[in-house]
Order: sequence, then C-alpha cells, then structure tokens
Amino acid sequence: MSNAEPDYEVVVVGGGINGAGIARDAALRGLSVLLLEKNDFGSGTSSWSSRLIHGGLRYLEHAEIPLVFESLRERRRLRQLAPHLVKRLRLNIPIYEQSRRSKLIVRLGMIAYDLLSIGKNVPRHKMLSRDELIEAEPGINQEGLLGAAQYYDAQITFAERLVLENIIGAQEAGADVRNYCPAIGINVSQGIVQSIHYLKQGSAQETEVTTSLVINAAGPWVDRVLATVNREIPRFMGGTKGSHIVVGRFESAPGSAFYIEAAADGRPFFIIPWNGQYLIGTTDIRYYGDPADVVASKEEIRYLLDETNRVFPGAKLTVQDIHFAYAGVRPLPRREKGPESAITRKHIIKKHRRVAKGLVSIIGGKLTTYRNLAEQAVDLAVRVQGGAAGTCETRTMPLPGATGIEAARKRLDALNCLSESGVDRLLGIYGGRASRIAGLAVNESHLIRTLDEEGTVLAAEVVFALRHEFAVNLTDIVHRRLMTGLSADQGLGISEEIAAIAARESNWNNSEKEQQLAELGQYNARLKSPVH
Ligand SMILES: Cc1cc2nc3c(=O)[nH]c(=O)nc-3n(C[C@H](O)[C@H](O)[C@H](O)COP(=O)(O)OP(=O)(O)OC[C@H]3O[C@@H](n4cnc5c(N)ncnc54)[C@H](O)[C@@H]3O)c2cc1C
Repeated sequence: MSNAEPDYEVVVVGGGINGAGIARDAALRGLSVLLLEKNDFGSGTSSWSSRLIHGGLRYLEHAEIPLVFESLRERRRLRQLAPHLVKRLRLNIPIYEQSRRSKLIVRLGMIAYDLLSIGKNVPRHKMLSRDELIEAEPGINQEGLLGAAQYYDAQITFAERLVLENIIGAQEAGADVRNYCPAIGINVSQGIVQSIHYLKQGSAQETEVTTSLVINAAGPWVDRVLATVNREIPRFMGGTKGSHIVVGRFESAPGSAFYIEAAADGRPFFIIPWNGQYLIGTTDIRYYGDPADVVASKEEIRYLLDETNRVFPGAKLTVQDIHFAYAGVRPLPRREKGPESAITRKHIIKKHRRVAKGLVSIIGGKLTTYRNLAEQAVDLAVRVQGGAAGTCETRTMPLPGATGIEAARKRLDALNCLSESGVDRLLGIYGGRASRIAGLAVNESHLIRTLDEEGTVLAAEVVFALRHEFAVNLTDIVHRRLMTGLSADQGLGISEEIAAIAARESNWNNSEKEQQLAELGQYNARLKSPVH
C-alpha cells in the first residue's frame, strides 16, 4: 500500500449481530468503517437462534463460569439499552424421577445462576413442588413428576431487529454499511493487509477499497472469507447445526417457557411462547456443508415433536401442526472429537499474525454477548492501528429505538387507524423510531392505513423499510423489517399488498413485482419444506 491514507481504517465483513456490533462500536470511537454484507443484514445465523438473551444455564455444566457471568452482565445491559426488543422471560425446569439431573443438581445450578446474576435485575429462582407446578401448568406430564425450578432470563422476539438497530447505529455514527455486497478478496502484501475487493450491490462490478484492517465477522462463513485471502490460512471453524420448529397454541400448552431434559439423549431443549406461537428447539449436530444450505431434517423435527408430546401429552403435535421450521449453524471453533455440547461457546478473537498484520477473525459468540465481543474486537483493532482504545460508548449508549417510546406511542395513537395491539406491535419492533413512521404517514397520508383486518400493520412501514432501513427486496421487508413473515401464516394474507406498496416506492414494473413475490414464495417454502 502507498503512504496515502487508506479508504477505511476498518472493513468489517459480515452484517450479522457480531459484524453489526463491531461496526457500531468502531464508528462510535471515531474510526472510519465500511461494513460489507453479502445478503441482507441479519439474514445469517443471527436469524436462526433460540432468540434468548440468556446466561446459558447449560454452560455451568461445562464449568464455563466466566462465560455465564459475562452473558448475565450483558443480559442486564441489553435490557436497559434495548428495552423494546429484549423482554424478561420466566422459565420452568421440570424434574422427574427419571431425570438425569436430580433435584439437588438443578437446585445447585439455580443457586450458582442466582449468584452470578447478582445485581442483574431479575428475580431469584424458586423451587416449585409437584402440586405447585401442576396448578400453574396443568398440561404438564405428571407421571414421575417431582417438582420444578423456576427462574428468569430474557427473550428477544426479533433478533433480526437487534442486528438492524446496530447497523442503523453504526451508520448514524458515520459507518458506511452495505448489504448485498459480498467481499470476494482480501489482498495481503509484505505481511500487511492492503485492500479488500467486493461486488457492488445488484451488479457484478468489482470494487477495491484500501484498508489496513479487516475484521472477518462472517459467522459460519469465516473460513470461506479467509479462503479469499491471497495466502494459505488453516481452517478454524467447526459449526454445529441447530434446528427449531414453530407451532401454534396447542392443547395443554404451557403459559410460560420450559427448559426440558430430552428423554432421548438427556440434552436440554426449550419450549418457548414466542410471537403468538411456540418456538421449540434446539438440536446440536456437527455440520460440514455450506451454511446457506442448512435446513431442519425430518429426524430433528421428529425428535422435537416427540419430546414435546412427551412432556405435554395433550399436545399430540404432528408435522401438520408446524407453521414453519428453521435451522442455523453455530459458528463454533473446530473440535473434531467429543460431544457437540462440550464445544466451548466462548468467542475467540483470532489475530492471523503469521499471515498478515491487520487480519482478524471472530470465531463463536452469542447474540447475548455480541456487545462485549464487539468492544474487545474494537479495542484490539485500535491497538493494531497503533492508537489508544478510547472509551467504548456502547456500554451505556441506548440502541436507536430505545428512546422516545412513549412519545412514539402518542404519535401512533394519533394516526387513529391502528388497533391497540397494532400500536404495541410497532413499538415492539421499532421502539421510539416508530415516531418516524408516524411522521412519514402524516406527510404521505395515503400511507395512513392498515394492511390487515386486525389493524396491526401500517402501510407506511413498507416505505420506511425501503427508505430508512436498507431493505432492498420484498423478502427483506417481510422477514427482517416488518417481521410479518414470522407470523403463523408467514404473512401471506398481506404479502401482495406489501408488494404493491413496495413496487410503487421502488418503481418495480409488474414483472419485477411478480418476481419479488416469487422469490418471497421460495423463501417461505424453504421454511415450510420440512413439513411436506
Ligand atoms: C440453533 C441456534 C440457537 C442459538 N440460540 C442462541 C440464543 O438463544 N441466544 C444467543 O445468545 N445465541 C444463540 N445462538 C448463537 C447466535 O445466534 C450466533 O452465535 C450469532 O448469531 C452469530 O452471529 P454472527 O454475526 O457471528 O454470524 P451471522 O449472523 O451468521 O452473520 C455472518 C454474516 O456474514 C455474512 N457473510 C458471509 N460471507 C460473506 C462475505 N464474503 N461477504 C460479506 N458478508 C458475508 C453472512 O451473510 C452473514 O449475514 C444460537 C445459534 C444457533 C445456530
């Protein structure tokens, strides 16, 4: 590289939760940042998790105490910094005569979790007797039931929106953020990163920008990004696949979340009230294929259905009851031996010093701990540049939607077209940023109308997604902006109407609009595919 200033001090590859968090933190510290995402922001693993902001009770079994402590601290922060997205969640762990984890073991785990949670604003655990649990959750299988532990964690219904708010926050702090821009080559010379090549959105045009620091936050694609460096680099990733099913309210369904030991293999899994439905998962299986191709298998679905029916016998769930299913690849470090559950969930910030100064990869990481991971990665980035780390602002700076929520409620109410649940829906997705949607609707009054019979989805949201939230196509709008694609009917009732508004806004002609609808149909079909 010449002595000229690089185009960017940092280029982040990957717009999942970790890349988005890193870009925001780096931009807030005054670095010039480019973030490249090959698809839509948040469309990778960050969309396919159990959607919990949790300490990870299970990690206690593997003595990952610092990870649990870090997670619980970050859980508290996220509830403060994104209260519209992260909500408290009550969970029950039923204990049976035949459980591998005895009442004593569960109790000890709970005490440890409470101790690690001290000062972290959730109630302490409670042990419930058999009768107390049956009274609270009459649908539970009572055979051999001894009682339960009840504790609190947090849930993020739409993790996609947490990614997006970090992207928006990064842009507000001065970062250039680009979706549909795959990084295709990292250029190293004389042991130093010189530049990165990427394709421009919607074209095959290759662009090169100079930089002396690339942070590879491509989740399960980390090795694939490293393969684009003009040097040999060993492989680091060893992902495991996890699948979930989503069903409607079923006979004997619980009122709160359950964390249950599976009879088949002793692994704990969740049944979680989520988005008006139930999210059930997950599995943990080594995965060697392309993360983009991962789908829930018939065996995983059978396992999740059988285990749910065992604990809630009235459920009698079958494949036909599944609204959709999804799978993701945990971006874990490579470990060929031992059980999947024993692979550490701690993140690693890997400097590839032997290959190039200025090349760093993120291995692992949870939604819950993304902010701290980003802080550590940016501390390192600044040091690599020879500077002082400066103050990390993300510890205390709310995410963009976290402020002005009550003012937004008033502005939405004043539109006089949304139902009460519609107002709550918008606040739960956009937080205080919903004020801007109301403002847009007031300025363009044809957008003051709802698209569904329940009066919950506002026409202005579609235009807002395209103008202010980086949505490029209909699938982005439906699945990662308005979030209607994750409802029981996958938002099918209003997709045509959303497409019509988007077509007007983006000047799609009729065949382009039909193409967008067809692509959305394919995306939905993939989520439905295990059911057929
Ligand atoms: C089944 C399952 C359950 C989970 N449950 C939880 C949970 O309940 N709580 C929790 O805290 N964590 C959970 N996790 C972990 C968490 O979801 C992930 O660790 C986290 O989302 C990883 O984020 P990421 O940004 O590293 O990766 P990703 O979200 O995958 O983002 C990487 C991005 O890089 C992009 N990319 C790839 N190649 C390129 C390229 N060449 N150029 C540009 N962009 C590129 C991809 O398109 C992708 O968007 C779970 C994970 C799984 C799989």
